[in-house]
Amino acid sequence: MRIETATEPGRPEVPNEDFVSVVLPAGGRGGALVLLDGVTPPPDNGGCAHSVPWFTARLGGALLELAVSRPDLTLKDCLSAAISRTADAHRTSCDLSHPLTPQATVVAVRWDGAELEHLVLSDSALLLESVDGTVTPVLDDRIDRLRAAGLRVAPLRNTEGGFFTAAADPAVAARAVTGRTPTAALRAVAAVTDGAARGVEVFGSDDWPGLFALLRKAGPQALIARVRERENADPAGTAVPRGKPYDDATAVLVEF
Ligand SMILES: [Zn+2]
Repeated sequence: MRIETATEPGRPEVPNEDFVSVVLPAGGRGGALVLLDGVTPPPDNGGCAHSVPWFTARLGGALLELAVSRPDLTLKDCLSAAISRTADAHRTSCDLSHPLTPQATVVAVRWDGAELEHLVLSDSALLLESVDGTVTPVLDDRIDRLRAAGLRVAPLRNTEGGFFTAAADPAVAARAVTGRTPTAALRAVAAVTDGAARGVEVFGSDDWPGLFALLRKAGPQALIARVRERENADPAGTAVPRGKPYDDATAVLVEF
């Protein structure tokens, strides 16, 4: 088994708002991974006294712990409980009804000898590589569909008909894209935040199989370096318009 991760802030002077962790329980044939991309807060910090890294550490840590300690719960139930636990940690000090209360995209994967279970919420990507080498992206493409329809997405955050992130409402877990695959049918899985997927989603210089092949061959750090090369070639984001010229980028590869 091979596990590799890498993460890099978009700008060295700004805290990295991504979170990634992989766990292999001792004595078991299984494991789990959690990857979050914290949403950059507004100037008023979304009514929260804490930082986005504070939030992602709590949400990601709780989700990872529940995923491995509660095999009786689905990943949706684990995410719901992790959101509640995190909200409880600052419910009394912060305004959790603020639309930009700290929140994150979520990828969670859990596997044992029989089955791999996945969950994707918002725009980080999960890639499943089958034993014949086919790479299947698992995406929650709500934001892309809204943008393709010409809609401004900001007002549609966590609203019916819009798109959903893990913030303070545990009910959002029901919106996640989930599925199960026989573990024996898979050779590897990878997860990337949108900052690491820019070759595919922003620059159009790569596709999902190509991104996966680079991850396998050269590793997550090389993938992030390739994204930075593209960003450095257009440092103000004028040739290729994008929300942020540079974004936090995180990738994780698990080869079975
Ligand atoms: Zn807070």
